[in-house]
Amino acid sequence: MESFNDAWGVICEYCKSRITDVAYKMWISRIEPVNIDFESGTVTLLVPTQFHKETLERCYTNLINDACKEIFGTAFELNLTTPDKKDMSAVIENAADPSTIYEYTFSNFIVGPSNKFAHAAAQAVAANPAGAYNPLLIYGSSGLGKTHLLYAIGNEIKKNNPDMDICYVKGDDFINELVQAISNATTAEFKQKYRQTDVLLVDDVQFIAGKNSTQEEFFHTFNALYEDHKQIVLISDRPPKDMKVLDDRLRSRFESGLLADLQPPDIETRIAIIKKKAAILEVPVTDELAQTIAQKIKSNVRQLEGVVKKLKARYLLNNEKITQAVVLEVISDILNNDASPAQTVEKIIDEVARTFGISSEDLRSKNTRQARIKNPRQIAIYITRELTGLSMVEIGKEFGNLHYSTIVYTIQQMDKKIQTDSSLRETVEDVIKNIRNN
Ligand code: ADP
Ligand code: MG
Repeated sequence: MESFNDAWGVICEYCKSRITDVAYKMWISRIEPVNIDFESGTVTLLVPTQFHKETLERCYTNLINDACKEIFGTAFELNLTTPDKKDMSAVIENAADPSTIYEYTFSNFIVGPSNKFAHAAAQAVAANPAGAYNPLLIYGSSGLGKTHLLYAIGNEIKKNNPDMDICYVKGDDFINELVQAISNATTAEFKQKYRQTDVLLVDDVQFIAGKNSTQEEFFHTFNALYEDHKQIVLISDRPPKDMKVLDDRLRSRFESGLLADLQPPDIETRIAIIKKKAAILEVPVTDELAQTIAQKIKSNVRQLEGVVKKLKARYLLNNEKITQAVVLEVISDILNNDASPAQTVEKIIDEVARTFGISSEDLRSKNTRQARIKNPRQIAIYITRELTGLSMVEIGKEFGNLHYSTIVYTIQQMDKKIQTDSSLRETVEDVIKNIRNN
């Protein structure tokens, strides 16, 4: 192995094969290898935030240690560092994906009429955990800053209360962890982890709806924390009343605190966000160009940010001057998002898998007859037909080499079922919406 970078790649592979994709992307892929010192036996890693660091320490150091043992034959002490504010621009310069480095804090969040209420509620909760609103539930469509606000709450609470134990989890990871805990007979540890925390931050809680055993466990976790006066913050893509398969007891818990929604930002807010992102990423975007971007991209802040990032890449790589023409080209790339069919299929499979709490591999494999997997697979096949131009034969190949006649039959059956089963139709629409938005 040439360098620590190469070794780190192998460590990542090891971790990737042992945890969920979502957990991997969220926690491991965002680590940057800095240094390995064989003499002192330490590995230094850069992680984006203090909050990230604590989650790694709580949940993933054993995994990383196991990987080191496997690869180097010995364990190392992990030294996790977070970037200094003043060093931030240097880090951004070198980072492959700058968005993963700078912090999701309140000071980086632009406030406007569309998000003023949710922002104020988040700040109130961060200033006074379990004393202001409990639970706080923030909802809104994709790319409007929900995860940003959730992290901002976590970061702010941590700053003011370094001893508080803050736990961040995504709805689908909660499910996967629970399923794993049940199969490994470690549910006691699972319960302890979630019930001893001071602040529970749950992103994309809508994924918990519909899975009864998970809802049950989540209900108990919620109650235990709530009765213990611990802060709970929930993020969802829709209000509880629209979570069709949510257990009524959970729905009333979710609605018992404060509900705050996020709306798409107005033009002034969009311009301010573009300028903020441009300043953070150090891309020279004039007022006029910011105006152009804000006029063309209206409903998704992630896309606004995507434009700035692409401009940065072109500016750095080609030394290209950022002109109106370049901006228009980048906007059109982002809006048309010309993903290849293979990338789209991968997204569809990932999204269906996490909607149903099963693995992507299961969805892709031919020989699973279990109902648990059969239905989601039919849905994934149907959506693939809807969203890609792939032929029946090609779709068959994506799903474990199924014969094209099976694909034709599956799609016919799904067409019929969708006519009569409104909950199936909604599920399909939701998955399509999520794929389009991400
Ligand atoms: P969601 O979780 O709602 O899908 P995110 O929180 O991931 O959206 O936001 C998408 C991107 O847009 C993030 O990089 C976030 O920093 C940025 N963003 C969203 N709203 C704002 C805002 N009001 N000010 C600054 N950045 C924002
Ligand atoms: Mg999010």
